[in-house]
Amino acid sequence: MIPYHVIRRKRDGIELSVEELKGFFTAFAEGRLPEYQMAAFLMATCFRGLTPVELRTLVDLIINSGVRLDFSEIEGPKIDKHSTGGVGDKVSLVLAPLVASLGVTVPMMSGRGLGHSGGTVDKLESIPGFNVQPGLDAFRQQLERIGCALITQTDQITPLDKKLYALRDVSGTVESIPLIASSIMSKKIAEGIDGLVLDVKRGNGAFLPELDQSLTLAQTMISIGEMYGKQTVALLTAMDRPLGHAVGNAIEVEESIHVLRGEGPSDLKEVTVALAVEMLLLAGWADARQARADLEGALADGRAATKFQQIIEAQGGNPAVVDDPALLPQAQVRHVLEAKADGWIEAMDVRAIGDAAVQLGAGRATLDAVIDHSVGFLITAKTGDRIVRGQPIASVFATDESSAALAIEALHAAITVSDETPAPPLPLVSHRVTAEGIEELA
Ligand code: URA
Repeated sequence: MIPYHVIRRKRDGIELSVEELKGFFTAFAEGRLPEYQMAAFLMATCFRGLTPVELRTLVDLIINSGVRLDFSEIEGPKIDKHSTGGVGDKVSLVLAPLVASLGVTVPMMSGRGLGHSGGTVDKLESIPGFNVQPGLDAFRQQLERIGCALITQTDQITPLDKKLYALRDVSGTVESIPLIASSIMSKKIAEGIDGLVLDVKRGNGAFLPELDQSLTLAQTMISIGEMYGKQTVALLTAMDRPLGHAVGNAIEVEESIHVLRGEGPSDLKEVTVALAVEMLLLAGWADARQARADLEGALADGRAATKFQQIIEAQGGNPAVVDDPALLPQAQVRHVLEAKADGWIEAMDVRAIGDAAVQLGAGRATLDAVIDHSVGFLITAKTGDRIVRGQPIASVFATDESSAALAIEALHAAITVSDETPAPPLPLVSHRVTAEGIEELA
């Protein structure tokens, strides 16, 4: 296999053989193929896509780059959820403990921030001491003991995704249906689940903003799930505005804790519960109404928050953050953004808000950048809201005045205010996609 032949053939839209793909990706996984050649291949894939056979081959290669877990000896269904990525998307932090508090096993393997979108693993690491790489034995034992563990891709499970993901993050090669689908589905298939719920984002803050792209992505992932015998359901959810108020790391953990305690922003709760209902249905609940009632009960009576404490403690973190979120990293510099004019928020450039958070230090601009867990935004007015001049619409949390000033400028530029009542924002949960077809919900 000559690497530049493979890259040129992909660039020219020629289908690659299983052997070619195997040689190319194995060399990369083993450190024999440089990142610049893989980045070129990934960019060609963004333009050319992958054929169904190429996609299946890539999924197989990623899964087989590590071990495939088998939790069949743990009683009951093992169900997970994964998001295609967004801004302020902290759903996993609420949903995993919530569903686990109702007795469903949730072995959740998540990623770090990707491009403008935040990552569950980075958010979890803002909890002092939290270990996202506990090792496979500890992962299994934790699932047996408390029913949920929140980990990252490791050198044992889908290590090829770990390398590709980090490279895609900084090489402008995230926006590709087959690359997103193979990245997500390989991790999920390797982690030993029985069923999967996908949160496919749509709107300008999603990697693939258009409705038809989101639907195709959902269907592609569902067909991979079917191929591997995993029941997979997708909900399309809104990313034309950040989810909840918080954008960052520690600040998103804090907001998640509020929802786990039965408080917090209603949009975050609504999306989380909708996805959790799907997880419970896959786990055997007879109907959605009962599932919803059980979820509401676990949020109201503290079971979900207690489960989060158990998870944090099991993974070496300080569980006291659930009672006292002030123990999370706190930014030194805080500024409030005020509306410059009366009107309505007509639109938010959510990707620009995510990029501004990365610039502030909440994400990575290069492979080896170190995250500042304390920084971020609280976006308190969102698309469709009526605002008056001088009204606080967001807060910036930064480490110094100069980065705060840049962020304030970026946020003002990302928010369009109009004199006229704008079109309504996207419905929070708009479509349900299964192997049987697409159902429009709103
Ligand atoms: N989440 C992933 O795990 N991979 C992607 O490519 C996008 C979102």
